[in-house]
Amino acid sequence: MNEFFQIFLNMNTTMEKITSEDLMKMEDKHGAHNYHPLGVVLKRGEGVHVWDVEGKQYYDFLSAYSAVNQGHCHPKIVGAMIDQAKRLTLTSRAFYNDSLGPYEQFVTNYFGFDKVLPMNTGAEAVETAIKLCRKWAYEKKGIAENAAQIIVCENNFHGRTTTIVSFSNDPVANKNFGPYTPGFIRIPYDDIDALEKALKENDNVAGFLVEPIQGEAGVYVPSEGYLHKAKELCSANGALFIADEVQTGIARTGRLLAVDHEDVKPDILILGKAISGGAYPVSAVLADDEIMNVIKPGQHGSTFGGNPVAAKVAVAALEVVKEEELAENAERLGQIFRREMQRIIDNTDLVVKVRGKGLLNAIIVNDTEESETAWNLCVALKENGLLAKPTHGNIIRFAPPLVMTESELMDCVRIIEETINAFEH
Ligand SMILES: *Cc1c(COP(=O)(O)O)cnc(C)c1O
Repeated sequence: MNEFFQIFLNMNTTMEKITSEDLMKMEDKHGAHNYHPLGVVLKRGEGVHVWDVEGKQYYDFLSAYSAVNQGHCHPKIVGAMIDQAKRLTLTSRAFYNDSLGPYEQFVTNYFGFDKVLPMNTGAEAVETAIKLCRKWAYEKKGIAENAAQIIVCENNFHGRTTTIVSFSNDPVANKNFGPYTPGFIRIPYDDIDALEKALKENDNVAGFLVEPIQGEAGVYVPSEGYLHKAKELCSANGALFIADEVQTGIARTGRLLAVDHEDVKPDILILGKAISGGAYPVSAVLADDEIMNVIKPGQHGSTFGGNPVAAKVAVAALEVVKEEELAENAERLGQIFRREMQRIIDNTDLVVKVRGKGLLNAIIVNDTEESETAWNLCVALKENGLLAKPTHGNIIRFAPPLVMTESELMDCVRIIEETINAFEH
């Protein structure tokens, strides 16, 4: 009787509802303050929707920075993950495993490269590409040791490691994290003359690292032909063209890769985020043999890179992209979305511009970068059931899962329109 009563009491305490407020306070107290999240605590996700702790439903218009292109908890991806997790999760690369080879064969065929180097996060993949480019420059191009330079762009975002923030020009990202890694030349984005000049004026350029669309900076789409000309200039000057498609890749912009819009094949391709559909940290660097073969055993790696769960998840996630024609859907819905946003913009002075490709878009709010307007608009959107976040000050990125239907998209357009029309600033 006593014991029964005790169990009953325990049940009661665990059943007591923890609120969103409690959970936010918990993070605030016990977690490092390296993010500034919007005030919503999510508990469940399915397809284009997420639900908070109180059960309110939202459209996800961020998709975990385009990692969840295939939609939340896609059954095929989660199924592959669970099946593999029950059999074998990690061997390290000290031994072979029966999932990695099939994945490597699949992913290299899928993107059209000889080889892949598997890692876990986007930043790790960027670091891998930098190491690969430098080693190639010394061993194939004959640049003197320690003299290699990699050209990068202003307002780039490639991740958060010490070397990557070294070539960022965002003071929030790099102030007081020095001394910085040398070996990078920064030029303006979408400026083909600046690239040509940097390639001509330096003998030691190993490569050009570029985002086909600058996502974090605020969805800056370069002029038509920029990527194509940049690749040509790199080839003519013996420098590697390195595309960071961590955010733009895997159907997000309406093609499998954003470089596909200009029929460009990068010398080194960097992938992350949606290569796992957001189920698991998976990233990859792809290149052909003449480049990738400069890396020898012991020179690079990661304990979890290429693990059997990651391998199975990535195959499933990439199959979903083709089976469900996500690139085609992103292209079609993106046209509709920008047309609808333009219609809204024509009738308001709160928003001045929409830009993007496929389902990677942003609207520019009519206020200064320092203003709170975009943040407050995102709070109002959240109240109305749609989650998005400002990137830089007055820019709001809109990137829903690519499994969205046209009628769901139109429902989202309605929410955005009603929120903008009701917004007081
Ligand atoms: C998100 C992102 C990265 C970094 O990926 P992480 O997994 O967060 O390390 C690198 N490059 C681009 C373009 C990104 O959007």
